[in-house]
Amino acid sequence: NLSIYEILERSALDYPTRIAFIFGDEELTYAELKLSCDRFASALYKRGFRKGDRMAVMLPNSLEYIIAYFAIQRLGGTMVQTSVMYQASELTHLLRDSEPKWLICRQDQMTKLEQTGFIEQLMIITVNKVKECQSNFHRLIRETNIDLPPIVINPRVDVAILQYTGGTTGKPKGAMLTHFNLVSNAFHNQAFYAVQNNSEVIVGNSPLFHAAGLLMLNFATLVAATYLVVEKFNVATVFELIKKHSPTLFIGVPTMYINLLQSADLKENDLKCLKICTSGTAPMPVQVLEQFEKKSGAMILENYGMTEALVTHRNPFSHKRKIGSIGIPLPNMDCKIVDLETGTEEMPPGTSGELIMKGPQVMKGYWKNEEETKRTIRDGWLYTGDIGMMDKDGYFFIVGRKKDLIIASGYNIYPVEVEEVLYQHPVVMEACVFGVPDSYRGETVKAVIVPKHGTSVTSKEMISWCKERLATYKVPRFVEFRESLPKTKVGKILRHQLVEEERIKQG
Ligand code: ATP
Ligand code: MG
Repeated sequence: NLSIYEILERSALDYPTRIAFIFGDEELTYAELKLSCDRFASALYKRGFRKGDRMAVMLPNSLEYIIAYFAIQRLGGTMVQTSVMYQASELTHLLRDSEPKWLICRQDQMTKLEQTGFIEQLMIITVNKVKECQSNFHRLIRETNIDLPPIVINPRVDVAILQYTGGTTGKPKGAMLTHFNLVSNAFHNQAFYAVQNNSEVIVGNSPLFHAAGLLMLNFATLVAATYLVVEKFNVATVFELIKKHSPTLFIGVPTMYINLLQSADLKENDLKCLKICTSGTAPMPVQVLEQFEKKSGAMILENYGMTEALVTHRNPFSHKRKIGSIGIPLPNMDCKIVDLETGTEEMPPGTSGELIMKGPQVMKGYWKNEEETKRTIRDGWLYTGDIGMMDKDGYFFIVGRKKDLIIASGYNIYPVEVEEVLYQHPVVMEACVFGVPDSYRGETVKAVIVPKHGTSVTSKEMISWCKERLATYKVPRFVEFRESLPKTKVGKILRHQLVEEERIKQG
């Protein structure tokens, strides 16, 4: 029953000189991080920030982000997660919905903020790119003596962050995550990866504004790891960090591994120091996993999670992992597969249905959206909207999202299964499969493919490739080639945008 700030406090007490974060040539030990965070919290308190206040944080991965996060937690506030990549219209939606009183951002975001019309209502703290500039944020940290009253936090009730969902299937919804949700998850991760305190070095690629990034930050803090803050993923930076710091953990998403695999430099770079590479947020094509492991000598452990419950399944480090599976549930998380239609009867192992779960990681609810909360959390069970399967060993597999299911002539087709076959083709770099209207079958399958640099293939070849490997009704009838695919801010392929484009094209 710890609060988030207490995790930091513990590590600062036990390992004060351990380097907590490295960002470029800046470093912070655990003691220094706690100090900066207490100072910033004091400055905020002096200016009127109180328990329950909401502060939108709109920063790229940076030390300021981390300091702001823990300071808000120290004061019992709620951090509203906001992406720097948001356009003015997206930002307007988010500010209108979350109603923060405070906002912290870099100076260069001000023009965008002005366009939202919310500037008057917000207390804004800016961070300049150059530290020496005496930016507002750094001035606040330097100015203040620590003067903080004790603030009682109720981990099971108090909302630590308001985290909007990825917006893969529609408008993002604000998930209310409590201290208990986040801290439980940090402990569960610790149990699963059997890591030692004070010894891990983590490559922090994932954006902190996304739950997948932030939860690894909590985990890193809990185990007093050194977290390498990467502002934005790119292949060269990753290789540089690996050479310099010999990290033990790499937190990735499938598109990152696809990029690393494409790089000619991968061969020359030894990634064997990496004990664990994680992949989550979207399905990991088996082909990519196998090729990456062969070339790099590192091992990928796939995991699964969602904003509403953080990471819930992982392939364990010290037990069996299963390629193509999302692993087994984290401790204390009850998971089952239920009938797609009724949502109640449990399905036997080996058959698919909706994945539902219950446990300490399940969010409190959607912010200001009781209707959606009631639809999603029933009887304490979170309905994920994902179609999954459990095998007889208790390992889970995701076959697709309910919303993505293609129904052609009454047959169910899961896009991921077709995509797996496409990824096996040597020329395919990325692929996305979806249903298009068909007057005879209701729907039929279409694939959009991005070929690897400097290669090409015809749609006829791709179709016959699929015919040899899939039942006829699953074979794409249309194949389109593109140079890139639309993606969400965490790099997930936006299937519904392609569906939408198709609808517009067909009138
Ligand atoms: P929205 O709910 O707004 O449409 P989103 O569901 O993409 O967006 P997130 O909460 O970031 O937003 O993503 C959770 C979803 O990501 C899961 O419900 C699942 O569909 C997918 N996902 C995560 N990990 C995996 C994985 N390893 N394999 C397959 N799908 C995954
Ligand atoms: Mg979702």
